[in-house]
Amino acid sequence: MNNFEQFEKHESGIRSYCRSFPVIFKQARGAELITSEGKHYIDFLAGAGTLNYGHNHPVLKQALIDYISDDGITHGLDMYSGAKENFLEVFHRVILEPRGFGDYVTQFSGPTGTNSVEAALKLARKVTGRNNVISFTNGFHGCSIGALAVTGNQHHRGAAGVALTDVSRMPYANYFGESANTIAMMDKMLSDPSSGIDKPAAVIVEVVQGEGGLNTASAEWMRKLQKLCRKHGMLMIADDIQAGCGRTGSFFSFEGMGIQPDIITLSKSLSGYGLPFAVVVMRRELDQWEPGEHNGTFRGNNLAFVTAAAAMEHFWTTDEFAKSVQAKGKMVKERMQKIVRKHGPDSLFVKGRGMMVGISCPNGEIASAICQESFQHGLVIETSGNHSQVVKCLAPLIITEEQIDQAMTILDAAFAKVMKEDSAEQAS
Ligand SMILES: *Cc1c(COP(=O)(O)O)cnc(C)c1O
Repeated sequence: MNNFEQFEKHESGIRSYCRSFPVIFKQARGAELITSEGKHYIDFLAGAGTLNYGHNHPVLKQALIDYISDDGITHGLDMYSGAKENFLEVFHRVILEPRGFGDYVTQFSGPTGTNSVEAALKLARKVTGRNNVISFTNGFHGCSIGALAVTGNQHHRGAAGVALTDVSRMPYANYFGESANTIAMMDKMLSDPSSGIDKPAAVIVEVVQGEGGLNTASAEWMRKLQKLCRKHGMLMIADDIQAGCGRTGSFFSFEGMGIQPDIITLSKSLSGYGLPFAVVVMRRELDQWEPGEHNGTFRGNNLAFVTAAAAMEHFWTTDEFAKSVQAKGKMVKERMQKIVRKHGPDSLFVKGRGMMVGISCPNGEIASAICQESFQHGLVIETSGNHSQVVKCLAPLIITEEQIDQAMTILDAAFAKVMKEDSAEQAS
């Protein structure tokens, strides 16, 4: 059996994912995690969306090994390096330019998602001279104070220890159901000088709410939100940290929606290899930073530049990869719809978009029991949502159809067992 003595004795009680998956992992390849005892798991968590191209992708691994073998720069503050030069060129040519962001500039923030959110918020406030920011119900943007202030999650907010200020929370796209017009509501509040809402510097929005439970905004809502932003002089920050890098079936989650965010934050799968890396991408006119005005020691993770550029060259120079993600997303969704029909047509439903889909359960206990049961049978999968009620698939996008089939069979059996137990409990 596993012995967790070192962790339990020496690591802080803050540890969390390991409590859901009490094994010691040793290796990982593609969509598979392997424990020190040699047990294989299919990984439907994928570093919370950090491993879109899977674990140790051979092309990225080779690029990294070659770079390290050649004594390439590992840490470079924000000094010029060949690896960074190459990343900037590839990112511009392969990702930004073809998507209409050719004249945007890239800021290397600190290496985490929350670092890029902090930088984006600070920039928006600096450029507009306004303090307030609109963020949305169930949004998640990180755990440092500024990012936490725009985050909805009470569990995380509760740990702040200081006031989380300068934010106005507004209802997300369909927070009040399909019929309520949340944009019109915001417009009225922003137009009324006595509504009590100070004019915001920006809105920060996830096009698919990853941690918030896979709530999705429609293209129409996003377009109206952009119009609202322009009307009231607010910048639109698209937080694509989790939904970006191909997760929804296109590089950015908002592609094809007819919007052009002013600022985009990216992290999680940006390096492609699970290496810490985050950027803020902004309209050139917004780049009003003074040199060094916002900084950070770890803004030059050159290993991440190498793998990020290799991932973009390998996966994004044609539309083949995006198409395969869309096809796999459809496959997962169809299997989930089948699970819903079989085990809870009245109480379960499918949520999300692309390869960012899940099944909403009646409560968090059921969702958690399903994840535990799945883990017993070789599937690593987690919950998200305001009540942790959504069983969420964040499988690596390179997962094979056979692995999807295997995983969905495990999930189906888990739903069968847990839903049956739940209805037996209700009847007794
Ligand atoms: C994970 C996440 C963040 C925070 O990223 P960290 O690297 O954990 O700081 C911010 N926004 C979104 C949408 C995320 O999913």
